[in-house]
Amino acid sequence: MDRREFSKSGLLLGTGMLAGCRESNAQKNVAQEKGHYLEPPKNLPIRHFDVVVAGAGTGGVVAAMAAARNGAKTILIERKGYTGGTVTEGGTALHSFYNLWKAFDGVKKTQVVRGIPQQIIDRLLKVGGTSGHAEMSRGFNYDSVCTAIDTELYKLVTMEMLDEAGVFIAVNTLLTGAITDGSRIRGAIIDSRSGREAIYAKAFVDCSAYGDLAAFADADYTVPNDYACCNSIGLANVDLEGYLAHLEANGGSNQLAHGIRSGEDGKVVRFNGGLAGDFRKGAGKIGMSSMITTVHDNYLMFVKCNFKIPGSVINRDDMAKAELEVRKRQAKAVELFRKYVPGCKKAFMARTSPTLNIRRGRLINCDYDISHEDVIEGRHFDDDIMAYGFHDSAPRYQVKDGGTYGIPYRALVVAGIENLYAAGMMITSDHRAHMSTRNTVCCMGQGQAAGTAAALCAAGNMGTRDLPYRKLRDKLVKDGVYFES
Ligand SMILES: Cc1cc2nc3c(=O)[nH]c(=O)nc-3n(C[C@H](O)[C@H](O)[C@H](O)COP(=O)(O)OP(=O)(O)OC[C@H]3O[C@@H](n4cnc5c(N)ncnc54)[C@H](O)[C@@H]3O)c2cc1C
Repeated sequence: MDRREFSKSGLLLGTGMLAGCRESNAQKNVAQEKGHYLEPPKNLPIRHFDVVVAGAGTGGVVAAMAAARNGAKTILIERKGYTGGTVTEGGTALHSFYNLWKAFDGVKKTQVVRGIPQQIIDRLLKVGGTSGHAEMSRGFNYDSVCTAIDTELYKLVTMEMLDEAGVFIAVNTLLTGAITDGSRIRGAIIDSRSGREAIYAKAFVDCSAYGDLAAFADADYTVPNDYACCNSIGLANVDLEGYLAHLEANGGSNQLAHGIRSGEDGKVVRFNGGLAGDFRKGAGKIGMSSMITTVHDNYLMFVKCNFKIPGSVINRDDMAKAELEVRKRQAKAVELFRKYVPGCKKAFMARTSPTLNIRRGRLINCDYDISHEDVIEGRHFDDDIMAYGFHDSAPRYQVKDGGTYGIPYRALVVAGIENLYAAGMMITSDHRAHMSTRNTVCCMGQGQAAGTAAALCAAGNMGTRDLPYRKLRDKLVKDGVYFES
């Protein structure tokens, strides 16, 4: 028997055995509904933790660090191979560590988000991975600072910090289910190439952006589909000075910030515009935005092509069509840059996100729902867990007098479930209020509060509604979180 015949017979033997298995499975399935397959039950290995954080994105990395630093045995579950989430894939700059002081005469410049989010920026500064908190000199009624990041270094730095905090980092791992006992979550089901596992814990934090854990645990949610989706491009091989000179010759950029670029301070790191004539028309057709940041001399970050999905953002097939549409738009965007922007003739797409980003997927019902009035009136609550001062619709809507509003603890407590927090873009139903709470730095602050609270709940064997607020507040203050009063 030659090698080919051997493998063929081996294959036949295998097929025969498989056919036998299939028959017995088929027999078991006789009673099943037509067109469905009943999965056989399976014994899953169990791992025990104090805190599970689902999603290692903008809010999740901060939540997991906070939980672990506060003594909880913490697992962070992330479907991709890296940490950072939408902060590394979607927007232009991190909004916003500061209040909008520049837009209001006499208002004091105050850093309103500190703690772990600021520690991430400090680490990035050490490795040349951020513009720093660069002050805006034009367009400062939109935001007073621009904090741009090197997305790749962000992934590295956050992963290192999680490792140092002792977090069990389960990347390349998909959260696929929840084990519930009435209104309490007992565990999360995860799938990876190491197999399917049950992760038992006392407290849970959903930072999956889409609220996957909450949905698996039967929390109430809606899917508003109230934003365009987008996959932003990193455009390389551009002559930045040439582009900026072109902008100045054509009316100038209406947003400008100077910060650290390619290791040198005082250089332009944010600008806007450059879209005129046919370039503008072409950009309009593909939903291309002109807001750009950079931290490198020859690289434009986050060139965005927005696309409103005609369907559901949690429907795989609608999303597949959108992925193709947006990739076509991206290719056109690069063509436009090459054709119309001086110094961009040889530009190319250096990075895209692994998947479409959207500003809202599922909206998870929580015990308190922040209103637009809460935001723009600058309201604070008895159970504030952070202060925040940026609104993405500025200058149309700004937080009163360049001040801050508070995110109440209740806004992170998932309705109807005893031991689950939600943090990030999945909270806040009012679209205009969400235009504030969904921003990166707010999600990071929420993450620190939710992770800390989860650690305290786990240590005290408490549900989220039993945690004494004062205990959480004292811990957050100790860990550098800023409060108004
Ligand atoms: C196009 C766009 C532009 C934006 N521009 C800006 C801007 O300029 N400035 C600004 O401040 N904000 C901006 N935002 C808003 C901001 O970026 C997001 O709201 C914020 O980053 C969301 O943070 P998050 O923690 O909720 O989710 P994410 O950062 O998205 O993190 C969620 C993580 O969960 C993981 N995950 C999801 N499901 C599972 C699962 N089942 N199993 C395992 N892992 C899972 C994901 O892979 C991801 O890593 C923008 C958003 C978008 C979409």
